[in-house]
Amino acid sequence: MSKTALITGSARGIGAAIAIRLAKDGYDIALNDISESMFENNETVEAIKALGRQCEIFVADVSDHSQCEKIVKDIKARFGSIDCLVNNAGITRDGLAARMPEEQYDLVIAVNQKSVFNMMKLVGSVMLRQKSGKIISLASVAGLYGNPGQINYSASKGAIIAMTKTMAKELGSRGITVNAVAPGFIKTPMTDKLTDEQREKMLELIAMKRYGLPEEIAGVVSFLASDDSSYVTGQVIEISGGLMM
Ligand code: NAP
Repeated sequence: MSKTALITGSARGIGAAIAIRLAKDGYDIALNDISESMFENNETVEAIKALGRQCEIFVADVSDHSQCEKIVKDIKARFGSIDCLVNNAGITRDGLAARMPEEQYDLVIAVNQKSVFNMMKLVGSVMLRQKSGKIISLASVAGLYGNPGQINYSASKGAIIAMTKTMAKELGSRGITVNAVAPGFIKTPMTDKLTDEQREKMLELIAMKRYGLPEEIAGVVSFLASDDSSYVTGQVIEISGGLMM
């Protein structure tokens, strides 16, 4: 029987690259994003179908527990199992702490962190019954080292690292592995928003003197979603071209 992977926020960027890579690895794919319009003229679905895999879109705001509950039920009904969960959906709303409105802090925590609770809880329950599964979450170097102007984002990503370790301990005895990746600076619509000055500064700190590609994140997620990582759990793998060594 084929396996199914759910990737949140996968209409574009790193999530889309992960979805295509996991389809290449043999997973059927449940795509998710916050609105149907994100999938208009979207090449990801066609790319996955061309690989001979099943692919369906499940629209939900993953910060909303009841919307998550609905799509997890629908995915289970459609595919029969959920074997891999990739918590990828994320946003930035940057600003210095002293000037950050409370709502700006709360929004990033809800989308980046509460969504991971929602999905780890709901998909985790499905995996507990299956007695198998792979959970991989997108943290960030901001969650490991902090980043000025990102108190909300770095808090959410640091929390994902702690949640990964907690869930690895809660689910490990049932054959479920729970890991995180911490990307550095990856070329996507999220980082296209940075100024040239911010980009130059970041490049100086990267040993490999280039930015990463979404496919380079997808490769590591592929390893964590495969049997090759069967004894790896509770870990955070940094993918940053050698930042802050
Ligand atoms: P992206 O291009 O902005 O893609 C993120 C996707 O998630 C977007 O399609 C976005 O839709 C969707 N999304 C946002 N809020 C959502 C919600 N509430 N429910 C469902 N989907 C939602 O970002 P990316 O650069 O690929 O980043 C993917 C992940 O990697 C994020 O968790 C990010 O924090 C992490 N990461 C990225 C980098 C980097 O350098 N790019 C570095 C470290 C970590 P909208 O466009 O409508 O918001």
